[in-house]
Amino acid sequence: MRDLDSFCEGLPSAASKVRWVECKSAMSPSRLPGLDLTLNPYQGCAHDCTYCYAPYLMRRERERWSEVSAKADLPRLLRAEASKRRGVIGLSTATDPYQPIEAGLRLTRRCLEELVRAQARVSVLTKSDLVVRDADLLMKLPKAEVGITITTSRDDLARIFEPGAPPPSRRLRALRELNEAGLDTYVFIGPIIPYVTDAGMDELMAAIVGSGCRRAMTDRLRLRPGMLARMTSRPGAEALGDDFAPLCSSEQYLAAMERMVSDRCAAHGLRVQNAF
Ligand code: SF4
Repeated sequence: MRDLDSFCEGLPSAASKVRWVECKSAMSPSRLPGLDLTLNPYQGCAHDCTYCYAPYLMRRERERWSEVSAKADLPRLLRAEASKRRGVIGLSTATDPYQPIEAGLRLTRRCLEELVRAQARVSVLTKSDLVVRDADLLMKLPKAEVGITITTSRDDLARIFEPGAPPPSRRLRALRELNEAGLDTYVFIGPIIPYVTDAGMDELMAAIVGSGCRRAMTDRLRLRPGMLARMTSRPGAEALGDDFAPLCSSEQYLAAMERMVSDRCAAHGLRVQNAF
């Protein structure tokens, strides 16, 4: 096992908590639509989005979700597995493959090198503009697609609920750069949050269309125990008003918001698909 200290210099403080873990296999079967296999280089996520439900699915302690573990053996295991297993590989589904530690660690990049070697089908989903660094490898993959998650065009609102992630302005710039590089992209608008996603919708649509992206996927807010309390206790959330919490709890309102976002995307010429 390697010492991570050298990787952590100059990275956000959460990175200093990264640990190595060993894994038995590189990929797992996926139950997500459009994906056959999942590949998660990390456990936990320093983006620390308040609405993240991955820790609930992974049965991880929510309070420790931002403590990141890196899968040490992944590139080696992937070399053996990638050429034997067929289908679209989701990179990644239970963490962000381009969270801050990846800038120094390059674990996701090393996995991509193996996937290029195997000429695998890959679908990336991230909230980070760091993905642009790997455009060279992604371009060498057959039919690779890259999704960028955006919940709002407003950097100030995103900071409330996605404290560790790059601001949407950087993600939208990344979307443009990926398209300019010739990659197939889509924007993942989700979770759709009352007073957050609908704020700056015109700017969001203009930026997506202006980036060259032609596809959108939408997803509604999916509350889990303790999640709403975590969201409303974030600094800045109080400015969203007293009806923010009730609206986040209303399935009817959330469904209406998702329809509204889908309609806006379609009106701007985007091909829209609901995530689940
Ligand atoms: S980027 Fe994704 S995996 Fe990471 S905390 Fe946010 S929602 Fe969870």
